[in-house]
This record gives sequence, structure tokens and C-alpha cells, in this order.
Amino acid sequence: MDGGLSKVDWQKVAADLAPIDCTTERALVRQKSRDFFWYSPVLNERLKGVRGDLVATPVDEAEVVRTLAYCHAHRLPVTPRGAGTGNYGQAMPLEGGVVLDLSRLDRFLWLKDGVARVQAGLKLLDLEAHTLPQGWELRFHPSTRRTATIGGFIAGGSGGVGSIQFGGLRDRGNVCALRLVTMEAEPRVLELSGDAVMPAIHAYGTNGIITELEMPLARTWPWREAVVSFGDLGAAMKLGHALGEADGLVKKLVTIVDWGAAQYFTPLLAHLAPGKAIALCVIADPSRETFADLVREAGGTIVFERPAGGEAGDIPPIYEFTWNHTTLWALKADRTITYLQCLFDGPDYLDKIARTVATFGDETPMHLEFARIGGHVAAFGLQLVRFTSAERLYRIIAWLEAAGCRVADPHTFILEDGGMKTVDEAQLAFKKQNDPLGLLNPGKMKAWSQPCS
Ligand SMILES: Cc1cc2nc3c(=O)[nH]c(=O)nc-3n(C[C@H](O)[C@H](O)[C@H](O)COP(=O)(O)OP(=O)(O)OC[C@H]3O[C@@H](n4cnc5c(N)ncnc54)[C@H](O)[C@@H]3O)c2cc1C
Repeated sequence: MDGGLSKVDWQKVAADLAPIDCTTERALVRQKSRDFFWYSPVLNERLKGVRGDLVATPVDEAEVVRTLAYCHAHRLPVTPRGAGTGNYGQAMPLEGGVVLDLSRLDRFLWLKDGVARVQAGLKLLDLEAHTLPQGWELRFHPSTRRTATIGGFIAGGSGGVGSIQFGGLRDRGNVCALRLVTMEAEPRVLELSGDAVMPAIHAYGTNGIITELEMPLARTWPWREAVVSFGDLGAAMKLGHALGEADGLVKKLVTIVDWGAAQYFTPLLAHLAPGKAIALCVIADPSRETFADLVREAGGTIVFERPAGGEAGDIPPIYEFTWNHTTLWALKADRTITYLQCLFDGPDYLDKIARTVATFGDETPMHLEFARIGGHVAAFGLQLVRFTSAERLYRIIAWLEAAGCRVADPHTFILEDGGMKTVDEAQLAFKKQNDPLGLLNPGKMKAWSQPCS
């Protein structure tokens, strides 16, 4: 990038793109240039001044194609955006330029044989408003179900509520097909299906703009939410593991939170005993009795229960205390708190968790999301961190890695460092084909910006 954006006449860009809806209004552009990067004190420092120059809001794919062709011709960077709930500055325009707001590509197209075809900017909540009456729901959704878009989830997310049955977005078969526009002089519109969808998943929109998706769904159940209290974290973990392994028990969520993190769940506090670890679960109604048996065996007590979807007083859906929402509750009380993301996996995964807790104690209050990973049960650690310095944070990360835990660093905007720390060759090759000038969400893909010789 030549950094010559200061010479661009953005009013002229807006006029050239008309009738596509464009704004250069400062406050609005700033607002649409931000996501939840501030979860990380490290990113907050680095990214707080980032903003684009213009927000373009296409209403259909033809307008996306026109915007990309124009930006390619004028060498303008383009950063796609759904609802901006992503973490790590994924949707932030590091080099300025155009923020491509896809939230108006929000049509539900069809539902057939358990597969929904939708436009990328459709909110997850609205997607399910179409499918639930027909007995279908998303296999899994992020805890931002009420705010995030499906395109943003596929391009920026990883898993969530339902991953205990179905794994994550990168597990083959969890996205059937997608339609994607390339960043070239004459943008191509690609229809990808089967394994061909993989390079576009969790690529932060660096190798194409997704306009439509075909999502495989799951049969819906009458779900029940439950909160279970335990004497200690070890007993709660036993329930997590037992639920994960109970293949006959239909469940959607198994979250374990130690008191150090649960103490921030203000709307739930009336039901919680101070000092106790808890499990937050969503279980299919027919599995209720088996669930109660497993709770008893693990030494827990159900302290709160209700049908999912019914709001009791001020208590939001239980899933809004889980996944990346857990940290949000803590941040509401204490802005110095941040978090980590690691995978406790392998035959000794419960032991790894126990050792982590013994080593860091209340410096990293434990939060676990049990999930099905490659066909077996494991737990994602999204432990809180009582932040003192970046140096200390990276010492904790180094300890976890040395203990055999994979860490997806939530304190970097670099795609590879936030994930597997290795170059995804297929993702890189796909970028070379689709965005040869490197104009899509620049600065995020290390393999592109700093290629190995
Ligand atoms: C409170 C909270 C809870 C969360 N819980 C979870 C969770 O449970 N699981 C999880 O995986 N994530 C979670 N996240 C992260 C985030 O909410 C999800 O990944 C979410 O689905 C992102 O959707 P969005 O529409 O807001 O995307 P955005 O934030 O707008 O975008 C995400 C990324 O995708 C790119 N993008 C957006 N739309 C497109 C498109 N159409 N084509 C190409 N690229 C595109 C953006 O450039 C960006 O890189 C959470 C975040 C918060 C703040």
C-alpha cells in the first residue's frame, strides 16, 4: 500500500459510487471502523485511533461488485464489516479506506432439506426467526446470536453454542456452500461448495467478500437452561466431561465457570452461592432426567432452571453469560480485566486445567467451554486475566504453550497469530487468486504482508 490515501477526494469517491449509499460523516465512519478490540488492553493501545475514510453500504451483490471494481481501479483498501462484534480488531481498517458494511444484504433466500440459503448480512437472530417455525435452527451460534451477522460469524468466528454437539466452523460440513466476490479489475462471483469453502472460513474477509451462504441446520428441540452449583471447580469439570461424553443426552451448551468469573454475572447472583463454581447448561427437554442424574453423580445442585426462550425477569438468555460474553460481564465491573483463549485437549486435558488453576489461581479465573473437537471431548479455556502488563500476559501464554495447550492469542489482529500460528497455504493461495493487489482487509494476514522467502 502506498499510503497515498491522504490525497484521495472521498466526496468524489462517494459521488462516483452513487447511488450506492456512502458516508464520510466522521462520527459514523469512526463508529463503523470499530469492533470489540478493546477487550484487549494490548489492542486497545494499538488500535484506538484506527478509522476508515468512507463507509459504503451496498444493498445487493451487484453493488458489492461495483464497489470492489471501483476500489480496485483506484487502489483503495476495503475492509468488510457485518455487525462489528468481532474481537481482535478483525473488522478494523488498519490502513483506512473503505469500510464495506454488508448489513443490508440481509435476505433469507430459502430453506430446503435442512439447509438454509441466506445473504451474508442477515443477523443470526433473524435467520432463526425464519427457520425455527419450520423446526430447524443453526447447528451452533456465537453468544452474539442477537447481534452478529452470519457472514461475520463465518469470516471471523470459530464456534459457540452447539459446538458441544457439532464442533466448530472449521470442521468439515458445517458450511455447505458460499458465494464470494473477488477483488479484481472485473470482480468474479464464485460459488464454492464442499471443502472448497474452507479457505474463506475465518479468513477475516482477506480473500473475498461473502455475499451468500448455505448453512446446514439442526432439528430444533424444546431446550431447557440450567445453572448448577458445585463445591469446587473440579466437580464442575467432572460434570462438563460427563455431559460431553454422554452421546445419548442432547445438549447445546456446557460452560463451566469458577467463582472468580461467575461473581460478575450480576443478573444471576441472586441464584448463586458466593465462592462456588457453576455450570451453565442448555439441555433438550427429553434429556432432562438424565441430566439431573449426571448432576447428582457429580455432586452438583441445580440452582436455576427455565425453558430456553422464556425470559425470567432481568435474566438474559443463559448463553449470554458464556463464550465471549463471560469476559464482557467482568469488563462491565472492572475495565482492567481481559482474557485468554486456549484449548485444553488430549487424554490429560482435565489435568492440564487443574495445573493451570493451581499455577495462576485468581490471576486467571477459569472459564471453560466444553466442545466436540475432532470427534472427542475437549475444553476451550477462555479464562479471565487480571491484567498487569503485556509482558506478564505473554509469560502466562508461554506457560500454557509449554504445558501443551494451543493458545489462540486474542491480543493480536494478525490472523495467523490469533489462530494456529502456522500459515494456511490454501487461504494464502486463495488470496493470491482473489485479491492480487492485497486490498482486502490489509495488514491482517501475515503470510501475505511478510511472505517467507
Ligand atoms: C460479547 C461477545 C461474544 C462473542 N461470542 C463469540 C462466540 O461465542 N463464538 C465466536 O466464534 N465468536 C464470538 N464472538 C466474536 C464475534 O461476535 C463473532 O465472531 C461474530 O459472529 C462476528 O459477527 P459480526 O457480524 O459482528 O462480524 P464482524 O465483527 O463485523 O466481522 C468479523 C470479521 O469478518 C469479516 N467480515 C464480515 N462480514 C464479511 C463478509 N460478508 N465477507 C467477508 N468478510 C466479512 C470482517 O472484516 C471481520 O474480519 C463474540 C464477540 C463478543 C463481543
